Amino acid sequence: MRINEIFYSLQGEGFLAGVPSVFIRLAGCPLRCRWCDTKYAWDKEAGRPYGPDQIVRVMQKWPCKHVVITGGEPMVNSDLPQLARKLKAAGKHITIETAGIVYIPEISCDLMSISPKLSNSMPDEPKLAAIHKHSKLDLAVLGALIDNYNYQLKFVVDSETDLPEIQETIEELENVDKGKIMLMPQAATRQELSGKSPMAAELCKRTGYAFSQRLQVLIWNNQKGK
Ligand code: SF4
Repeated sequence: MRINEIFYSLQGEGFLAGVPSVFIRLAGCPLRCRWCDTKYAWDKEAGRPYGPDQIVRVMQKWPCKHVVITGGEPMVNSDLPQLARKLKAAGKHITIETAGIVYIPEISCDLMSISPKLSNSMPDEPKLAAIHKHSKLDLAVLGALIDNYNYQLKFVVDSETDLPEIQETIEELENVDKGKIMLMPQAATRQELSGKSPMAAELCKRTGYAFSQRLQVLIWNNQKGK
């Protein structure tokens, strides 16, 4: 399978923020989010080939139980179930970070970290917008992920006008545990993070949803491989 990068850092987002974790970034994503901070992983050939056993071996050099399979979009990779099985057999806690656009049953996963892409992710460029629109949100897939996995739902907020669409999506899903919802400021730099965090925090206070930090931006200003 094509791996874009493997590195050791802290989980920056979600309920496990701050936990030392090895990140395995799979290559390839069918979406084209306007504010994507890993565009270098869009191409499914971006990176180099690894076998699942080789990945597990690389991981062993770090003193770390948590592994985050990210992308790109890991759920479009047909080798993902095999990789997850190997990591689970090696005793790892597995988080899969996904936009929630594909459902795979019975994958080894301790936390499905789902970040549904709403209107604010639409790119300005018409060609990219057409690609993005095609697969950005599927409520049936989201519902199946929520029903079958331990999950967190992380919504990226760019402005407070995003809230009605977030609320509508949650209502349409029906089966969401409100305690598993987080709002995360859209920010690729420290400056954006400090600018947008107060707005996201106020939305959290208004709705009761939790605030998601972006520690990788706060600490390293989104340097690649951190
Ligand atoms: S789903 Fe994730 S990796 Fe894919 S374009 Fe959107 S932000 Fe980037």
